[in-house]
Amino acid sequence: MKTRVAIIGAGPAGLLLSHLLEREGIESIIVEAQSSDFVLGRFRAGLLEAASVDVLDEAGLSERLHRDGLEHRGVYVQWPGTKRAVDFVERGGRPVWVYGQSELTRDLSDARFAAGQQMYYNVSDVALHDVDSSAPFLTGVDATGRSIRIDADVIVGCDGFAGVSRDSLAQSLRAVYERRYPHSWLGFFADVPPSSDQIIFAWHPEGFAMHTMRSASISRFHLQVDPHDHISAWSDDRIWETTARRLGSGDNDWTLHTGPITEKSILPLRCRITTPMRHARLFLAGDAAHVVPPTGAKGLNLAIADVTLLARALGAWKRGDESLANAYSDSALRRVWRAAEFSWSWSSALHTTGDPFDDQLQLAQLDWLTSSPTGGAGLAEKFSGVPIAFG
Ligand SMILES: Cc1cc2nc3c(=O)[nH]c(=O)nc-3n(C[C@H](O)[C@H](O)[C@H](O)COP(=O)(O)OP(=O)(O)OC[C@H]3O[C@@H](n4cnc5c(N)ncnc54)[C@H](O)[C@@H]3O)c2cc1C
Repeated sequence: MKTRVAIIGAGPAGLLLSHLLEREGIESIIVEAQSSDFVLGRFRAGLLEAASVDVLDEAGLSERLHRDGLEHRGVYVQWPGTKRAVDFVERGGRPVWVYGQSELTRDLSDARFAAGQQMYYNVSDVALHDVDSSAPFLTGVDATGRSIRIDADVIVGCDGFAGVSRDSLAQSLRAVYERRYPHSWLGFFADVPPSSDQIIFAWHPEGFAMHTMRSASISRFHLQVDPHDHISAWSDDRIWETTARRLGSGDNDWTLHTGPITEKSILPLRCRITTPMRHARLFLAGDAAHVVPPTGAKGLNLAIADVTLLARALGAWKRGDESLANAYSDSALRRVWRAAEFSWSWSSALHTTGDPFDDQLQLAQLDWLTSSPTGGAGLAEKFSGVPIAFG
């Protein structure tokens, strides 16, 4: 097979890229290791920056988002005895949208199927070849066991944290920056109406807690846990008791709705950034190049920003101008590092370390962010995001 752009991975980055490329008049083929049902069944992120929503609006992909998603003007930040609303719009930012990643992936996938996109699911043993040349290609084994080969002008690795494309960047060029955090997140979904009209970020001496939502009947929670904890040690009763203690301490009148827990897992917090995001005819986008702790809700938004820049760059290249393709890695990484800084500083303000001195520093930081116009404006901008642009 032959195409202009071979895309590895049918997560949000790969699916959106193929859609944006089509609008640039560029054909692409997607290969995905998993089945379509598996990809659509994955629950992960759920907060979209205004800039991400702009991209989806312009691409005609946001009808269901505007119908079923929840627009939030801000968040609550709390610690024992105090609960403060930070209104992003009042502080000079823009609203954010609560919309599950699985819903977004479904919208993107439906749009791709409707457009007759060439997508190959259940492809194993994907390997990249000759990315240094002007005729790169990839190989794999399709769902029927048949070997496939796709020749392309460029290959884009949208294959997430566990993908293979990153390894095709020459070792001599590659730099990897990594920070492992000394805590993990226990995340769970419950079939209960949200207990808040906006997302709650809670500092508590016992550990961070967060409450968000997916719909009027599905709630999402995260609890800071020890990185050595195993999910089997967390019964549903223990989870609800801990959640009630940590989230209930900011406001005496607050009530936690409890009910059936439908999914729970423990995720280590880490930041890992691979540079550059382009080498010769290979480009990386989304989690294939970078993962950040979910505290700042940036992972999915960065994936959308990367492919937005990349589609513009490949469009310009098709018209004979390679300058944006040459600028892609630096421009994408500038946004990535800003998101990494926010995810680090926001995580550091909220996750307890067991050191009473750290506790007081964290509370001073949260007090400033939620009471000072300058602190609030910074928080609003970092949450709601800045326009996606080269430079
Ligand atoms: C468990 C978990 C929870 C998360 N929670 C949050 C959160 O609460 N908030 C937040 O902002 N972010 C969160 N994230 C991050 C967010 O989900 C990602 O940033 C987002 O999915 C990135 O999209 P992507 O398309 O780059 O990568 P992915 O969504 O990972 O998609 C990559 C695709 O490539 C496929 N693939 C992998 N290897 C190959 C191969 N060899 N060949 C072919 N295909 C391959 C995969 O199957 C997958 O479909 C979470 C991530 C995880 C893993």
